[in-house]
Amino acid sequence: MADAAIVGSGPNGLAAAVTLARAGLRVAVYEAAADIGGGLRTQPLFDPEIAHDICSAVHPMAPASRFFREFGLAARGVELLTPEVSYAHPLDGGHPLDCAHPLNGGRAALAHRDLGTTCAGLGPDGERWRRLMAPLVRHSEGVVDFILSGQRALPRDPVAPLLLAPRILVHGTGLGAARFTGAAAPALLTGVAAHAVGELPSLPGGAVAALLGHLAHGPGWPLPRGGSARIAEAMVDDITAHGGTFHTGRAIGDLRELDGYRAVLLDTGVPGLLDIAGRALPDRYVRALRRFRYGPAAAKADFLVSEPIPWADPAVGRAGTVHLGGTHAELVREENRTARGVRSRAPFVLLVDPAVTDPGRARPGRRPVWAYAHMPNGDDTDPVELIRSRIETYAPGFGDTVLAARGMSGRDLEAYDPNDVGGDIGSGAMTIRQSLARPVPRLDPYRTPLPGLFLCSSATPPGPGVHGMCGYLAALSALRHRFGVRKAPSLAPVA
Ligand SMILES: Cc1cc2nc3c(=O)[nH]c(=O)nc-3n(C[C@H](O)[C@H](O)[C@H](O)COP(=O)(O)OP(=O)(O)OC[C@H]3O[C@@H](n4cnc5c(N)ncnc54)[C@H](O)[C@@H]3O)c2cc1C
Repeated sequence: MADAAIVGSGPNGLAAAVTLARAGLRVAVYEAAADIGGGLRTQPLFDPEIAHDICSAVHPMAPASRFFREFGLAARGVELLTPEVSYAHPLDGGHPLDCAHPLNGGRAALAHRDLGTTCAGLGPDGERWRRLMAPLVRHSEGVVDFILSGQRALPRDPVAPLLLAPRILVHGTGLGAARFTGAAAPALLTGVAAHAVGELPSLPGGAVAALLGHLAHGPGWPLPRGGSARIAEAMVDDITAHGGTFHTGRAIGDLRELDGYRAVLLDTGVPGLLDIAGRALPDRYVRALRRFRYGPAAAKADFLVSEPIPWADPAVGRAGTVHLGGTHAELVREENRTARGVRSRAPFVLLVDPAVTDPGRARPGRRPVWAYAHMPNGDDTDPVELIRSRIETYAPGFGDTVLAARGMSGRDLEAYDPNDVGGDIGSGAMTIRQSLARPVPRLDPYRTPLPGLFLCSSATPPGPGVHGMCGYLAALSALRHRFGVRKAPSLAPVA
């Protein structure tokens, strides 16, 4: 019998399994779906030669997070390809390129990996952008470790919180946009804050803008060559090499199915925790879990297209990621509408044309396009037409290049992965309270009141994204409390 069971094989379940296996424990991973990976699956949808990322596609946090730094993706053959333009933000679809235009000389704002080039493109706001980002870039490791520790450890770099606090306060409130004079810089920053998927401006949005915004100018926003599944495969290889076993097609419905394990770590959402262990958990904890709230949905569209996207501003075609949301004011208005549960006709859309960064993802006349729109939680509309028309606004003629498309509404996403409740890809809204304490306020949020039962999914700090830190921190808690191991194991590749 293995020592620990992990329920769910998303990046956090796998990070937990890696950490426990590297500490010398025997781990068994149970996954409801037929394939391992949760939010890290890549597969053909329309054409056997063209692979689509079903959930995550871009990985700013993978090279940056403490878990993955120690795990060493590159040393395990996962090649992170980093575009020189991290993200682009088209501001309109029609104006001719005009240097006197109020959008500071271009129809799209670009965040280059090179900070100086970015600032040069932002006209009078360039210097403000440099003052905002340059100190964070200089203290990047400390900034990342502080935010991704879920504020659970003293900062290793004491400067990091001092840099972050004023930036989050300014850019997480209405004050931030007013500091800029042009349209490009506030749109760029708000597009990054919108990754928090909720009301804007907000302090969690400000924190996300500081985290992802500065990473765009440092290690960049990479895509793994071949797709996100390469990250999961590297983790599976390590777990297997250290004696771990995998059981796919095995949905766990009750904790009693896992009798005998000294520790059980759930890579599930809060509803999963309640289904599996609700009867055994104290009422007070259950009541607190039931108060956990969910944010807007991501409604996903995958396209097979015949050629690169015909962006009105061709510079957008160099970007790894594209934010479609218009100006700062438009973005804020539509994000708030969506957060209130109203379906927007012009929702924020995140788009990735993977072959821009990883040309091997395309074949002659065929390439994948990945996009999702923010929609009200639980929305069940097929988003393909809406997303197609949003892209068309900034890339007239896009529709003519579409060979095939598949939509997944928020509801479909939940059916695909029960952690995405109502299509909330964050496994819980990133409100102030829930970004500081999730799923419930506890000194150790990974430990449940049941001895040996831990939660390790993105419903725990630091929350959503492929960084492995929820799983890593939950595994360290399990090691300490169930196995008396206080020292974090080495995760480095074994020669
Ligand atoms: C459309 C979409 C796009 C995204 N894009 C990005 C991106 O570009 N970059 C980024 O960093 N993040 C992105 N994310 C977010 C990221 O994928 C998630 O934050 C991350 O996958 C969460 O990891 P996790 O391990 O907590 O849970 P998940 O990845 O959701 O994995 C949970 C796993 O547990 C399994 N499971 C659940 N319940 C049970 C049960 N009872 N028994 C057995 N198995 C169970 C599920 O089947 C699933 O495989 C995206 C997410 C989505 C959905």
